[in-house]
Amino acid sequence: MKFASTRDNRVSVDLSSALMAGLAADGGLYVPRELPNFTAQDFAADESLAAIATRLLQPFFADDPLADELAAICAQAFDFAAPMKALPTEQTWLLELFHGPTAAFKDFGARFLAACMQRLQASNPVPLTILVATSGDTGAAVAAAFHGLPNLRVVVLYPDGRVSPRQAHQLGCFGDNIHTFRVAGSFDDCQRLVKQALSDRGLQDRVPLSSANSISLGRLLPQMAYYAHASIGHWRRTDRSLNFVIPTGNLGNALAAILARACGLPIGDIALATNANRVLPGFFAGSDYTPLPSVATLANAMDVGAPSNFERLRWLYPDAAELRKAFKVRAVDDPAIRATILSGAQYLGEVFCPHTACAVRVLEELRAEGAAGDWAIVATAHPAKFEQIVEPLIGHPVPPPAALAELLARPAHAQALAADYADLVDALARIE
Ligand SMILES: *Cc1c(COP(=O)(O)O)cnc(C)c1O
Repeated sequence: MKFASTRDNRVSVDLSSALMAGLAADGGLYVPRELPNFTAQDFAADESLAAIATRLLQPFFADDPLADELAAICAQAFDFAAPMKALPTEQTWLLELFHGPTAAFKDFGARFLAACMQRLQASNPVPLTILVATSGDTGAAVAAAFHGLPNLRVVVLYPDGRVSPRQAHQLGCFGDNIHTFRVAGSFDDCQRLVKQALSDRGLQDRVPLSSANSISLGRLLPQMAYYAHASIGHWRRTDRSLNFVIPTGNLGNALAAILARACGLPIGDIALATNANRVLPGFFAGSDYTPLPSVATLANAMDVGAPSNFERLRWLYPDAAELRKAFKVRAVDDPAIRATILSGAQYLGEVFCPHTACAVRVLEELRAEGAAGDWAIVATAHPAKFEQIVEPLIGHPVPPPAALAELLARPAHAQALAADYADLVDALARIE
């Protein structure tokens, strides 16, 4: 399959080129030129997440240099589960996406992208540097996914003092080919430095660079797999389609569900939950799309004022009125996040992370207004990643899952960096 740009449908590149480039040359985002059409029966022989992913992604990889490697890539990337857990509330499940190495859903996309890039880099003698700006979760997932891969290195920039102590520890605990910098500045400063480097041709002649942010097709496409796995399993058990409510920031996770539904999988309604950053809820309520500076909330991985995948949503739904009718989008503010974490622990016996709590709350509102059917709440991170918020509310410790505990037990180190482009260029030149 070939891929076009959201800004120009005459663009036609193969998947591998789109993965390596990140952004299209015209500044748009890569999108598939056509969508395959599946029915749930097409997956009759497939049970595991890796097997479903391989079948689902096969049309996107057709004619690509990586086509023959797809099954191996899926087996390598999807080596942990995405279980559905029934909640005490009727017709409600939790789709747990936090069983990977860094306990958040970004592990799926990061591990898939790493498995692809590892193969694309295999015959290239020059190492490739993946440059990532992170407000917490992305950098850890990318670092864990690329750690130890030959011919690839990762440079992570995070805002010093503005990620949680556990997040900082995860970012700095890898070493080897992972280089972690704590930047004296904000997340926006980190992002600005990365963008400047990625558009600096002179620098890239000396230090070949690529990115791994949430617009990468190599993260977006594999995320469709857990929606396929959950909805097909549900359909087999119940003969009913499954609705999803998704905690949303840059729209990467939600867009994967939307694409999976567009490919014919048994997915019903898709509802989006944001935190107090209201750009999407505002648009869906009828306002023009107006990016805003992000505001800090308890669900910090969703503190986004300009959702980077919005352009892909407009490409799928060129008609704004139709788009506004297609999804319910609600904002959840910090007091409601706190109240939901507390009531979840008291009445459901379930501890939610602040992001997942936004989705829990939105489903409660939709149900109160009469929404029917089977719903899966997408749990994007383990609550132990946000222990400083969750533990005081519920009054007891939340033990980290084994994979996370293992990372936290390693020593961690990050180098200091000024929020200054010349300093970043120096630092990149010094990396072995
Ligand atoms: C990144 C992240 C989100 C937001 O996902 P998007 O794809 O940016 O919409 C939600 N929850 C957690 C825990 C995250 O790390």
